[in-house]
Amino acid sequence: MLSVRDAVQHMLDSVQPITESETVFIADAVDRVLAQAIHSTVDIPSYDNSAMDGYAMRADDVATPQQTLTLVGQALAGHPFRGTLKAGECIRIMTGAEVPSSASAVIPQEDTVVDANIPQQILFTTAAKDGQNIRRHGEELKVGAPVFASGHRFTPVDIGLLASLGIADVNVHRRLTVALFSTGDELVAPGHSKRSDQIYDSNRFVLHAMLERLGYQVLNLGLIPDNKQEIADAFMVASARADAIVCSGGVSVGDADYTKQVIDELGAVGFWKVAMKPGKPFAFGKVNGTWFFGLPGNPVSATVTFQQLALPTLQRLAGERDQEPVLIQAVAGEPLKKRPGRADFQRGILRYENGENRVYSAGPQGSGMLSSLVQGNCLIRLEQDRGPVEAGESVVIQLLGTPIK
Ligand code: AMP
Ligand code: MG
Repeated sequence: MLSVRDAVQHMLDSVQPITESETVFIADAVDRVLAQAIHSTVDIPSYDNSAMDGYAMRADDVATPQQTLTLVGQALAGHPFRGTLKAGECIRIMTGAEVPSSASAVIPQEDTVVDANIPQQILFTTAAKDGQNIRRHGEELKVGAPVFASGHRFTPVDIGLLASLGIADVNVHRRLTVALFSTGDELVAPGHSKRSDQIYDSNRFVLHAMLERLGYQVLNLGLIPDNKQEIADAFMVASARADAIVCSGGVSVGDADYTKQVIDELGAVGFWKVAMKPGKPFAFGKVNGTWFFGLPGNPVSATVTFQQLALPTLQRLAGERDQEPVLIQAVAGEPLKKRPGRADFQRGILRYENGENRVYSAGPQGSGMLSSLVQGNCLIRLEQDRGPVEAGESVVIQLLGTPIK
């Protein structure tokens, strides 16, 4: 059996990122993958400005508390003070307003006393420190500083940073197109009546939603029966129109596992036994020049193998930089069943309790039971060689974030 790490490495080594790119408005760039590194073309902030509502002055004038200065003007955001502050003078200043070069500190309004009869005289109850409450020109970013590396996938806050740099358009990789279908004679689409020996197709919905969240275009080819010709037709359509094909079911060694039989004839695909649970059967390779990921049919297996095996490779294909999953250490809050031989990805519930991360099983761990993925907030990653876990033992957690939840 292939280890998860080796399987992923093999796939990563096989694929080349797509090269086509396009220019999009930043508001449309969330979840798109940057095709060219971005460096700052401006200094941020672009001028010294006040971090507080208060008064600006020369810090020397308020070297000790209880000094009084004369108010000579004001600076509002977007409306700078044009004069020069002299000794003994101060100006009213608002957050974000430019601090004149003649001032060297800002004292917040809370630390002042103003007598309504002599409003031009401001008493400062605290001393000023040089540079206090001034956000300095260029302190966050300087011209030329690297901002985003090529392969970066944009989040909402990234778009904010782009906007603050004055950038309106970015060059991103074109979206990946991923063809998707389910196979299985027992499957019925939700919304239709079914016999008691049939089940509803859930994989296609989970996978479609995950692929869309990843920013890919999904070509949903529906439900394909266990029929060699129909499966072959689906592969022909999919490979003509998509960069990658994701399908579930039929990659095992059962009598009706036609996907395997068809692909054996059509393409260069490896059928692997990956040492993971849930999972194990998994197929990867090329069909008519299009990458193919064959996931096991059981819904938890399909979801977890998609996340652990297919996703890193799809991301590389889409031009995204490789990322290691963020792993967290936790203490098992209860015993966990585990047999050596395969790496387990158990569905868990992570809670911060009594000053530590504790993780509990999210319920029955059958590879067909989506409810445990619904209940859980993390995967408990138990190493391949590990045996049963006692309460109190240390385990490694991966939060179930995007795209699963
Ligand atoms: P297979 O990988 O085709 O042998 O299927 C393994 C198990 O997963 C069987 O119990 C199937 O009925 C179930 N299964 C396969 N595809 C789906 C699907 N799209 N949605 C829900 N369950 C499925
Ligand atoms: Mg099947």
